[in-house]
Amino acid sequence: MEIQGVGIGRGVAVGPVIHMAAGLDVPGDEARPENLTADAEFSRVESALASVNRDLLARAKAAQDGQGAKDAAPILTALAQMAQDPALKTSIRSLLDGGKTAERSVYEAFADFEGKLQAIGGYMGERANDLHDVGQRVIAHLLGVPAPGVPESDKPFVLVAPDLSPADTSSLDMTKVLAIVTIEGGPTSHTAILARSRGIVAVVGAQDAAGLSDGQTVIVDAAAGKVTADPNQEQIEKAEQARREADQAKALRGRPGQLKDGTRIPLLANVGKPADADPALEYGAEGVGLFRSEFLFLGNEQAPGVEEQAKAYRALLERFPGRKVVIRLLDAGADKPLPFLTQADEPNPALGLRGLRTLKVHSQVLEDQLEALARADAETNADLWVMAPMVADEHEADYFVRLGKSKGLKRVGVMAEVPSIALMADKVAKVADFVSIGTNDLTQYTLAADRTLGSVASYQTAWHPAVLRAIKLIADAGQANNMPVGVCGEAAADPDLAVVLAGIGVTSLSMTPVALDDVRAELAKHTMDEAKALAARALDGEFYHPQGW
Ligand code: PEP
Ligand code: MG
Repeated sequence: MEIQGVGIGRGVAVGPVIHMAAGLDVPGDEARPENLTADAEFSRVESALASVNRDLLARAKAAQDGQGAKDAAPILTALAQMAQDPALKTSIRSLLDGGKTAERSVYEAFADFEGKLQAIGGYMGERANDLHDVGQRVIAHLLGVPAPGVPESDKPFVLVAPDLSPADTSSLDMTKVLAIVTIEGGPTSHTAILARSRGIVAVVGAQDAAGLSDGQTVIVDAAAGKVTADPNQEQIEKAEQARREADQAKALRGRPGQLKDGTRIPLLANVGKPADADPALEYGAEGVGLFRSEFLFLGNEQAPGVEEQAKAYRALLERFPGRKVVIRLLDAGADKPLPFLTQADEPNPALGLRGLRTLKVHSQVLEDQLEALARADAETNADLWVMAPMVADEHEADYFVRLGKSKGLKRVGVMAEVPSIALMADKVAKVADFVSIGTNDLTQYTLAADRTLGSVASYQTAWHPAVLRAIKLIADAGQANNMPVGVCGEAAADPDLAVVLAGIGVTSLSMTPVALDDVRAELAKHTMDEAKALAARALDGEFYHPQGW
């Protein structure tokens, strides 16, 4: 039986299932015995809340001190605060005043707040599970029973749970837990966030996993987002092999990206905010290949001031002394609308004013951002490279490079996301210091398939030889003019495609930090000659499989 979910990372694990211990029964709604006053019950509740708060804070401290997942500490602290929330206490008190038992009052008050979070949905909706966990702990304390949690076992196992609370995830004994499968939860649930950062093999949102029984053998394949129950020997051997390869991939962390023959392909990280420097460094990024600066602008009613921006850029640059950091100018429009800069009524926003086109119209925003970058650059010692999104040809490239240099920036380049820039690459290479290929948009525009539209999702692959040929035009121009050509779209995170890109002549790859291990390991398996041979086959269309034609 195969169960589909959402995989976190690319790990594989094989082992027997153990289900998470069932939660507590819902406390009954009978009237409170007369000898128990509301005041006495409330002080019992207060002491249970305080105890849960202390317990969670102690776990946060233990995590902080390295006895668990370090990044669990702020989450556990936030949970501890939930147990001291004044609004919850007020609500519990009024339920007690209405004649309910302590257990029932806690249950109803937490359920009410959980419902409100669920109604908001998205990230807040997923916090409802955290709140539920805190409520369960408080009720368990009132009842004098252990809080529901991760089962104990002498032998390694695959943990199956409705969803894991941060408290559970942080205290997992990783010598025993081979993988986590959750029935609920999405890619932004805490289980997913912590699994990702701790490198735990995980598949989340696998609804049919509820039907697995304790002791049943499963393969958890995160890359495929799949759980296979009762696998045959051949499937198990394949999974074991994949697991060994994943372990070997991790062992290369800290080494620079290179092919088997030593040809260097620096591996960089894509980041969205300065704090993302943490995972980037943890996974051994050699620098930053794409900093999406939109986070400074999104949700604001106007562009942030020069100093506010410079502060954020400094915060990032300070984490990478002496290393390359590529910051992209604001990419507003299309899939990244910004009310104060972009028009809401464009019939085809992906073909409208976006990227550099938007910045040209709002030249003050452009100048301020360049000014802030130059300021941050002068005050730090990272190797700052600056690039513009959505540049169509050498004229636009020339405009941007000149403007950037006039502000004192040293390395100014462009993103290649529109096919026209690939066709004009020889001329672009004469004016730009570097080109970074955004394969997400380059694929969208080369194949005329909206990247946000599910109905044309099958076109969204950089394995299409048309996309690879566009990349080759740019790489060739780069080689002829001694101009670096990187890839910073999702394509760089596909280990097999990364080898092909190296063979085409791409000189660096930038990706989400968790993908770095696998790409580094795959590159190390091929010489440049082998990569070139694979690239030739890929450019010929051999590895592209059209769907439904
Ligand atoms: C791209 O288009 O490949 C890219 C890296 O930019 P974004 O995904 O932010 O549009
Ligand atoms: Mg893009």
